[in-house]
Amino acid sequence: MNNDEKIEWEKCQKCGFLQHSSHIRCLNCKHEKFDRVKATGNAKLLNYTILKAPPAEFRDKPHYTLGILEFENGIKVLGQIDSNDQVKIGIEMRPVYRKISNNLDGKEVYDYAFEPI
Ligand SMILES: [Zn+2]
Repeated sequence: MNNDEKIEWEKCQKCGFLQHSSHIRCLNCKHEKFDRVKATGNAKLLNYTILKAPPAEFRDKPHYTLGILEFENGIKVLGQIDSNDQVKIGIEMRPVYRKISNNLDGKEVYDYAFEPI
């Protein structure tokens, strides 16, 4: 993964539960102290959908694929999938930091997308 842009979740210091950093308390035990955990390795595709009427920012393509993926250490993300042909639930994919779209002001937006290994 790119060292400048990390995907991070939080791990509860009391019970070890792993969750998105938007939560104030542990969803499992209500504890309020966490360690930051980085996504590591590749990710497994858990599910996906193909958007055939993309939002305005993504209309440079006729359609695109969004997937839910789980990294080797349990962190889950929603991300663009770069190949429509090889997409299948359960395949291993690698994160690639790249331009995702141009926003409505014309600025380039970067984030992780995923490609088959
Ligand atoms: Zn906890």
